[in-house]
Amino acid sequence: MAELSIDRFVDLYAARTAGMSASEVRALFAVASRPDVVSLAGGMPNVQALPSEDVLAAVSNAMDEYGVTTLQYGGGQGHVALRQRLVGLMAEEGVGADPDDVVVTTGAQQALDLLGKIFIDPGDLIAVEAPAYVGALTAFGAYQPRYLQIDLDDDGMIVEQLEEALVQGARPKFVYTVPNFGNPAGVTMSATRRERLAALCRGASIPIIEDNPYGMLRFEGQSLSCLRAMAPDNVIYVGTVSKVFSPGVRVGWALAEQSVVQRLVLAKEAADLCSSSFNMLVTERYLSGERWRRNLETLIDAYRSGRDSMLEALAEHFPPESTWTRPAGGFFVWVTLPRWVDTQTMLAAAVERRVAYVPGTAFYPEGRGTNQMRLAFCFPTVDRIREGVGRSCPTKPSSTGHCTHEGRGAGRRTQPRARRLAPIRTPGATGACPARP
Ligand code: PMP
Repeated sequence: MAELSIDRFVDLYAARTAGMSASEVRALFAVASRPDVVSLAGGMPNVQALPSEDVLAAVSNAMDEYGVTTLQYGGGQGHVALRQRLVGLMAEEGVGADPDDVVVTTGAQQALDLLGKIFIDPGDLIAVEAPAYVGALTAFGAYQPRYLQIDLDDDGMIVEQLEEALVQGARPKFVYTVPNFGNPAGVTMSATRRERLAALCRGASIPIIEDNPYGMLRFEGQSLSCLRAMAPDNVIYVGTVSKVFSPGVRVGWALAEQSVVQRLVLAKEAADLCSSSFNMLVTERYLSGERWRRNLETLIDAYRSGRDSMLEALAEHFPPESTWTRPAGGFFVWVTLPRWVDTQTMLAAAVERRVAYVPGTAFYPEGRGTNQMRLAFCFPTVDRIREGVGRSCPTKPSSTGHCTHEGRGAGRRTQPRARRLAPIRTPGATGACPARP
């Protein structure tokens, strides 16, 4: 065990590091990676399903095609061959783009960090969904913004709330949203809301950051137009290959106006000079054939089965006053439990029962989500998901009369439809969760 020592530099750190503290949940994540623990916590793509021969072929093709370029530094914007490939990927989601407007980043996560760096001064207001992707809160948080939190319901961000805030005089630097199968809530912004958001922000000259890691992981229903396609000059689109190929290659990107692109490239060069040439060019080769599409179909089938198994298990085990979302794609179900449940306090006991999840407080800048949790269905097998959901059912205080974590006898019931995603305001709890990703 590490010895306690006095930090000699305590007075020297920049003020922004105060917002970088990790929660106690971090310790539990080490436990959650034990093989006997069912992790419904991390959003880990099911990379075991990728045939290793396809990956090896991409590596070998990259070496054949690009030679030592794969081993060299590249330009800050990223290799043009990959940018062209990414333009093709975006076209499949209805987004037209020019490779010159794409900046390759070290995962979408770096794109979020660089966008925070170029847009946020300390104290600036930014608009985020509530709940929001924890990694975005971490990335933006380092630049010390204030948050305008816009609630979600089953149709995604409640754009009327943003509109109302703008009428009241709020002027966020940007609006951040994950419109497709969002992280953590799993909900998808409706077509009407998209149109309204795109028009509202365009009219007010407030850029939208559209983060779309899960768009190609649709289980059912029709794809909806990307915000970027609705207002190309006012939307910065962020993409990643983490969910369609591999998070290990750390290839993401931003698509933006030239003025933004130039600033992003400068910020990127300051951060890491360039992304890994090797990873970029292997990714380019992986996406060049047709096999990756078959692999993606296999992944989607597996995630759909995971989602179904999770929804069934929730209906079977969770207390009747709970609600949860029904994602049409992606990785996550968002659960709102009765008010007597504190998911953060409950987590230690859950890990003892060999299951882990992420408490809701992680997904708000502060003080909300105490009775909420994010459950990920992307990684464990369907049987493990079922087991894990059963074990993560909250133990009740003695007077409430239902649901124990054994909960098997609870019987099936219809899933209640969540209207608003019911955040509960409680002071104090902070959500700097290191949960990945
Ligand atoms: N945005 C969202 C909404 C995510 O869920 C993730 C990954 N969990 C990321 C960005 C970052 O993805 P990556 O850096 O792996 O591309």
